[in-house]
Amino acid sequence: MKTRHISYLFWILTLLFALPASAQEMIVGSLDVKVSPINSDVYVDGKKVGTTPDVFRDIQVGQHCVEIRKDGYESLTKTVTINENEQESVTGTLKAIVAATPSTPSSPSTPNSPSTSNLSCPDDNHPHMIDLGLSSGTKWACCNVGANKPEGNGDYYAWGETQTKSKYNWSTYTHCDGSEENCHNIGSDIAGTRYDVAHVKWGGSWVMPSRDQIKELKDNCT
Ligand SMILES: [Zn+2]
Repeated sequence: MKTRHISYLFWILTLLFALPASAQEMIVGSLDVKVSPINSDVYVDGKKVGTTPDVFRDIQVGQHCVEIRKDGYESLTKTVTINENEQESVTGTLKAIVAATPSTPSSPSTPNSPSTSNLSCPDDNHPHMIDLGLSSGTKWACCNVGANKPEGNGDYYAWGETQTKSKYNWSTYTHCDGSEENCHNIGSDIAGTRYDVAHVKWGGSWVMPSRDQIKELKDNCT
């Protein structure tokens, strides 16, 4: 019985000592984020706080991980130290992601490579990065995944698969358990993930294009 009392006492003491710390007033500073393009998402310690450009007040003093993200761009991560009543700033420009052109069964009839008739590669080390002067800054690959010339069809991949195979049906589809009804959700935005064949095969910042990137290419190229 005696030990029990002691442990209660200890618990109460711990509570008493713990209280002042949690009730402590927050000491804050502010963070000015000027990163282009505008409307990029701003995350502080993994939590979205708003978009660029903006000044974020009431950031607790100390070290924080600030990340700026936007679709189609490489994210920018910075560690900042916020001091009491001072303003820290993060500036910069996000780098546009390079898009590749994997062939997928979902669009087999769409020619999805840039105007290729008069395009030739400097050497056989494909993929080459082609700057088409698009306003987003997106650069396209010279070839489809698996192709060795700009006009080549390249390899044929099922959605979210990164290997070719001899039979393409539901029973051979990696992201299903044998039938269309038993598919796993791999998400609709797989660019840059382990389901993205361009990213898996080519590495680096190569990714399959997003719908917006394909639209930009179609709208601006002949
Ligand atoms: Zn090439």
